Amino acid sequence: MRWMAGFGFVSQMSGSCPACGEQLASRHGWHHRHLQDLPIQGTVVKVRLRVNRWRCRIEDCERQTCVDQLPEIAFPHERRTRRVAEFVHLFGHGVGGLRGERLMKRLGMPISDDRILRQLKRHAAAFSAKQTVRVAGIDDWAWRKGYSYGTIVVDLERCKVVDVMQERSAAETANWLSEHPETEIVSPRSLRTVCARHAGRSATSATSR
Ligand SMILES: [Zn+2]
Repeated sequence: MRWMAGFGFVSQMSGSCPACGEQLASRHGWHHRHLQDLPIQGTVVKVRLRVNRWRCRIEDCERQTCVDQLPEIAFPHERRTRRVAEFVHLFGHGVGGLRGERLMKRLGMPISDDRILRQLKRHAAAFSAKQTVRVAGIDDWAWRKGYSYGTIVVDLERCKVVDVMQERSAAETANWLSEHPETEIVSPRSLRTVCARHAGRSATSATSR
């Protein structure tokens, strides 16, 4: 597979220590991140990004050093830029793990189906950590279409994915429900139908304003 590399440098004045909140002013060195970015004419692009590493001045702080996070470019610990992560999210939900892997590779953004699932789970966990799910819809999710299916849980009031499970089993569903006692209603209706109606309503109310 052809690929090309780029080099980037991002300078940020300073932030605050994520552990103690102290203003960071003493630069300790550099930290390098290697990120996959959007392809150029089908060629894989990897960017080597150099960001600041800061030293915390508080002696007993649990974080002696920390690095700039730059969430506008890539989420922490991600190996892909946010704009590539958006494609992973779209293909993962739209066509499932294996077909998503094939499409991403064809477009010059290779990623394994395991990583697609992990990213979907991370995003779903980040959303559900902030919200209480009152009305949930649970349906199949094509992990490998025609071969294996997982389970997807959607907050039907907001039409947001709140969890993706690798298996389709009553035990996994029961386990999810036991961890979310706040969920009052579980709808067996087709999620696509419900979310399509939701999208239609949103569009209608937007155009009638
Ligand atoms: Zn600190």
